[in-house]
Amino acid sequence: MSSAIEKVVIIGSGPAGWTAAIYAARANLSPVVLAGDNLGRDRVKGGQLMWTSEVENFPGFVKGIDGKELMHTMEQQAALFGTRIRSHFVTKVDFSSHPYRIFHVDDMAGEEETVTAAHTVIIATGAAANYLGLPSERKFENLGVSACAVCDGALPRFRDQPLVVVGGGDSAVEEATYLSKFASRVHLVHRRDALRASKVMANRALTNPKIVPVWNSAVEEILGTEEKGVTGVRVKNLQTHHTDVIEASGMFAAIGHTPNTKFLEGQLELNDKGYVVLKDGFRSLTSVEGVFAGGDCADSTYRQAITAAGMGCKAAIDAERYLAEHGIH
Ligand code: NAP
Repeated sequence: MSSAIEKVVIIGSGPAGWTAAIYAARANLSPVVLAGDNLGRDRVKGGQLMWTSEVENFPGFVKGIDGKELMHTMEQQAALFGTRIRSHFVTKVDFSSHPYRIFHVDDMAGEEETVTAAHTVIIATGAAANYLGLPSERKFENLGVSACAVCDGALPRFRDQPLVVVGGGDSAVEEATYLSKFASRVHLVHRRDALRASKVMANRALTNPKIVPVWNSAVEEILGTEEKGVTGVRVKNLQTHHTDVIEASGMFAAIGHTPNTKFLEGQLELNDKGYVVLKDGFRSLTSVEGVFAGGDCADSTYRQAITAAGMGCKAAIDAERYLAEHGIH
């Protein structure tokens, strides 16, 4: 373990993490961001927005902005003010005594586990996409099953083919709309008869001639072969119990997210869904003094890039106040 004790360590590199870094760096706290080592979807520097094609609702970008570009810009802004950025993935934390200890690895570089000591920690690890949990989903991973249209939609296996998207929220309609650019047809399979997506996005999907809603239905099985990959899905109508096969060369799960907080279990109060519990309502304080949280890992309600950025800002200001109150300069 390095003998230096960092003033602020930020775990995570989505809008919450980068905004916390910008604020902490501008307050001369020289923060360290443990940004992820890119060895998996929940370990990617930049987080979920790295898979979002068009962000139209982040204020300041009249024409919208590509998610990746937004994240790269935030990272550059954080670096400009002196943030130290490490491509490390955090495996565990020890918040039982102060200074807190954070254990992290850079598997890409084959590095051993490193321990960083910190006076304050900001948790901004976001959330990861859920899958249906079918065994056949695993079997056809990278063979037609995906949870990310923006990453995989343009692959040759999906071009001019019928595809299935599962879900009824903004993610589902966004994925279906995006895939309609490549696919011959997109079946939007939803377990109810109404979308929960925002009206604008839902209308865009439902008026798209290539998108066919399949209401009150659940995917029971993904069909295919090892050579061909996915060839279809078996769906069950939840009202009539009738089953049907939809021919498709791909199935995209868009059914929500789980917070990336497993490494915090036993160290910090989490709710029954794994979200970090924030104290004092609107602030960023957690159950451990000097540990703050922001963004999707602590927010199951709004889950927007802009709310995550705002929460990251609060966490940095709360960390700064904590350090000042404790005479740590
Ligand atoms: P979500 O709003 O929680 O929607 C998840 C959808 O999946 C719901 O329709 C749900 O059905 C369905 N679902 C959940 N578990 C299922 C299962 N096991 N089998 C079948 N269906 C299942 O999640 P989201 O769409 O990922 O959106 C999350 C947040 O991000 C939202 O606040 C959203 O507004 C935001 N978002 C915004 C944008 C944008 O503005 N560009 C894009 C994406 C997401 P029920 O409806 O029956 O519950």
